[in-house]
Amino acid sequence: MLVYIAGSGAMGCRFGYQLSKTDNRVILLDNWEDHIAAISQNGLKVTGDVEDCVHLPIMKPTEATEIADLIILLPKADQLPKMLQNIRGIIGEHTKVLSLLNGLGHATTMRRYLDQENIMVGVTIWLAGLKGPGHVHLQGPGSVFVQNMVGDGQSVVDIIDMFNQAGLNASYDDNVIEAIWRKACVNGVMNPTCAVLDCTIGELFGTEAGLNLVKNIFDEFIAVAKSEADGIDEKAIWAYIMETSKKASSHYPSMHQDLVQHKRRTEIDYLNGAVVFKGKRAGIPTPYCQMITDMVHAKESMLGLR
Ligand code: NAD
Repeated sequence: MLVYIAGSGAMGCRFGYQLSKTDNRVILLDNWEDHIAAISQNGLKVTGDVEDCVHLPIMKPTEATEIADLIILLPKADQLPKMLQNIRGIIGEHTKVLSLLNGLGHATTMRRYLDQENIMVGVTIWLAGLKGPGHVHLQGPGSVFVQNMVGDGQSVVDIIDMFNQAGLNASYDDNVIEAIWRKACVNGVMNPTCAVLDCTIGELFGTEAGLNLVKNIFDEFIAVAKSEADGIDEKAIWAYIMETSKKASSHYPSMHQDLVQHKRRTEIDYLNGAVVFKGKRAGIPTPYCQMITDMVHAKESMLGLR
């Protein structure tokens, strides 16, 4: 297969690196000039659980010309529409396009650019970080769940096999929307709160007021999730959040890294902001999500990011 990674930041480099160890051709697409230059000149440096350096082709999305068999979308959420426009030239009649972004609403964006039968959505709990241009750091175990938008799971089988050859621990999920909501709940309660309070996950969950904030945001996510998706298991998701909060207690979530450490625009509009939007449509009040979204927006504005 010819596989493009559209958005080759931290997670795109993880998928690109691991897939490059299979029999498939992998091409990275990205717009960050220094990252492209570093990978083109020195290869992709990998540290953490593996120490390696691989030479992978990398180019800007608009420079790619060969029709893809599979495109894995991994830009940040606000970069998705532009990425979908820029990769139009490599999408053929049979090209499958898989979103592995965090957050809500990406399938709706994809439908504006792609045929329904070629859209796949998924969720991953692998982790990755960029240490600098051309240098990805991989740590910890993970998994990927994938589903196609229409049809049975058969058309996804080859892709799941390829992911498993790459050690990506993939499986088909016939209700991936529930898995997406589960991950959105985890991200939605921890990411903006830790970013605004400038604290670790353990510090947030270790105070009564912090835990109260988490619970109120969680209740809003669950109310909206139940209005949209089947099979939302509130107790199981809460248990998963509490387990994650213990395992990752010393970590700063990715939104803290984006907003506080790197001063980059966040994915808030696709997490708590999306819950506010969907809540309004369904007549469900979401005051905590509104407040935390406003606070993140305010900080982004102060930093000149919006
Ligand atoms: P990322 O910020 O590493 O990369 C996203 C894009 O931003 C890439 O195009 C990258 O080249 C560019 N970029 C990164 N640093 C830059 C810099 N300093 N200057 C200019 N451009 C820069 O994002 P990511 O962590 O790979 O996330 C992609 C998607 O995957 C998001 O939806 C995220 O929520 C999701 N995700 C990430 C992880 C993770 O551990 N990283 C885990 C699960 C899901």
